[in-house]
Amino acid sequence: MSEHIVIVGGGHGGAQLCAALRINGFSGEITLVSKEEVLPYHRPPLSKAFLRGDAIDTQIIKPKSFYDDNNIRLMLGRTVFSINRTSHEIELSDNSVLEYSNLVLATGSKARKLQIPGSNTAGIHYLKTAEDALSLRSALDSASRISVVGGGFIGLEAAATFLKLGKKVTVFEAGDRLLGRAVSPEISQWFLDKHGKAGIDFVLEAEISEFNTASGRVSAVICNGRVTGADIVVIGIGVVSNCELAEAAGISCKNGVLVDPHMRTSDPDILAIGDCVAFEHWQTGTLLRLESVQNANDQARNAALTLTGQEESYTVVPWFWSDQGEDKLQIVGLSGAADRRVVKKNLQNNQISVFHFEQSKLMAIDTVNSPAEHMLGRKLLAKGLSPLPEDLKHPEFNLRNML
Ligand code: NAP
Repeated sequence: MSEHIVIVGGGHGGAQLCAALRINGFSGEITLVSKEEVLPYHRPPLSKAFLRGDAIDTQIIKPKSFYDDNNIRLMLGRTVFSINRTSHEIELSDNSVLEYSNLVLATGSKARKLQIPGSNTAGIHYLKTAEDALSLRSALDSASRISVVGGGFIGLEAAATFLKLGKKVTVFEAGDRLLGRAVSPEISQWFLDKHGKAGIDFVLEAEISEFNTASGRVSAVICNGRVTGADIVVIGIGVVSNCELAEAAGISCKNGVLVDPHMRTSDPDILAIGDCVAFEHWQTGTLLRLESVQNANDQARNAALTLTGQEESYTVVPWFWSDQGEDKLQIVGLSGAADRRVVKKNLQNNQISVFHFEQSKLMAIDTVNSPAEHMLGRKLLAKGLSPLPEDLKHPEFNLRNML
C-alpha cells in the first residue's frame, strides 16, 4: 500500500505530530483520529482561563485551515476499537476500517477515579477534557463551597481559580505535603503558605471515607471523621495511561505503552508518544511516564524523525510548568535520584529556587517566578553542565557565566 500514517489521539502529541511530519518532508497520507469532537486544543488552560469563561475556540492548537492546507484528514468524534497488526488495519467506532503503513498511538491518559461511597453522584467532577471543564464551568455559578480532592497540579491550579471566582475552597491532599511527587518540600511549603494566605483551606494526610449524598447530589466530604460542606467536589488524584488498545493488540505495555528511544513499540510499524508511553529514561535509566505538554510535543517531533528515516535518540531534558494564582512554578530535569538540595530565596522578588544534586551533579531545578533561571537551567542540563552545590551559595556566582 502507499504510505499512510494514522495517528490515534487528538491531544498535544497528535496535533504536533501532524505538523512535524509535514515539516520533515513526509508527503504520504496522514489521518488523525480523535475521540473528541473538537479540534486538538491546549489542555493547561482548562483549569484556569477556561474555567473563568474563555471559549474553547481560543485554545485550539492549530486552526482547521492548517489540517486542510497540509492535506491531513481529520476523523473527529470516533474511537478506535481494535488494531489488526497482521492486516495493518484499525477498526473504528463508526464501523469503518482504515489501513495504515504506520500507526502512532497518542492516546494520552485518563483521570484516575476515586472509588468511595458517593463518588458517582451529581456534583462530583473531574478535570481532564474540554467536556469535563465545560460541565464543571456550568456548575460553578450555583456553587459557593468547593472541595478539591488532590493537592497536585490539577487540584491546586483549579483551587486558585475557584478562589479568584469568589468561592470558598478546601483542598484535601492524601500526602503530608502538596505536590509531593513533583517538587521539593521547600516548594510544597511555599505553595501551602501562598494558597493558605490567599484563603484556601487545606487538609493534609486526608483520608476521605465518603461523600455525603443524602439529597441525591453531593453535599459534604467526610474526611478523617470530619464533615466539610460542599456544593461541588473536583477530583484530581492523578492519571493512568490509555494503553488498553495497545495491550489488546499484544503490544508490550508496563504502566504505559513501552517504546524504544525512537518511539517504536514492540511492533516496529507502530509508534507511541506522550502521556500513554512508558520509556527508559536516557538520564536515569529508569522506566517512567512523563505527563507533560513538553514530553508529548518532543516525542511527537522524535516520532516524525523516525517515520521519515532520520532517526535520533530521544534525549530531551524534561521540563514542566504550572501557573497557580499569581505564581509560576517551573521544573526542569528529574529530581528522583537527587540526594542534596540547595535552596535560594528572594522574598522581595517573590522567588524561590531549589537545585537538586546527585552527589555533585545537577539533576533538576524547581523555580517559582524565576523564568530566566529556569531557562538557564534548561540550557545547562541539556549541555550536561553543573555548578557545584557550594558555588550557588556565593552571592557573586552567576549561572549565566557557565554557558
Ligand atoms: P498529580 O499532580 O499527580 O496530583 C495528584 C495528587 O492527588 C497527589 O498529590 C496525590 O497524593 C493526591 N491524591 C491521590 N489520591 C488521593 C486521595 N484519595 N485523596 C486525596 N489526595 C489524593 O495529578 P493531577 O493533579 O490529577 O494532574 C493530572 C495530570 O495532569 C498530571 O499528570 C499533571 O502532570 C497534568 N497537569 C499538567 C499541568 C500543566 O502542564 N501545567 C497542569 C495540571 C495538570 P500522593 O502523591 O500522596 O498519592
